[in-house]
Amino acid sequence: MKTKTVGREEKEIFASYITHHRLKRSDQRDVILDTFLRSERHLSVDDLLHLVQKRRPDIGRTTVYRTLKLLQSAGLAQELVVQGQTYFEREYKRQHHDHFICNGCGEIIEFSNPEIERLQDEVAAQHGFVIEGHRHQIFGQCRRCAAREPRLEARK
Ligand SMILES: [Zn+2]
Ligand SMILES: [Zn+2]
Repeated sequence: MKTKTVGREEKEIFASYITHHRLKRSDQRDVILDTFLRSERHLSVDDLLHLVQKRRPDIGRTTVYRTLKLLQSAGLAQELVVQGQTYFEREYKRQHHDHFICNGCGEIIEFSNPEIERLQDEVAAQHGFVIEGHRHQIFGQCRRCAAREPRLEARK
């Protein structure tokens, strides 16, 4: 297992969040945060639970869920709801990005495009709409799934 320290800043932020909200420090939460930070992916509660339990089988789903919600309140995690399933991803100091979601295998692919961002600002301005945030989710087939289903290719 990697011993490299990850997310030192995030751990400090979480520690001060815990102190500020007068919560007890818990080593279970520390393990959950560390596991979360070592993963670059979009994780459901069960995905994270699975990774956490490889290190600490005694940690249960409720603790993982509650810790994720705390991370969210602390600004370290962001929730992403895809077709009714909730995922969490790192939030701190991450650049804005949007998601492609594969209907075949469920893979979530990140993208960002300044031109799309600029266009939506322009369209919003035309409507006098003040944007405070947005999430794009584009559904379809990832490269691998599209290759498996040639009839989808033919439709284009
Ligand atoms: Zn796929
Ligand atoms: Zn993402």
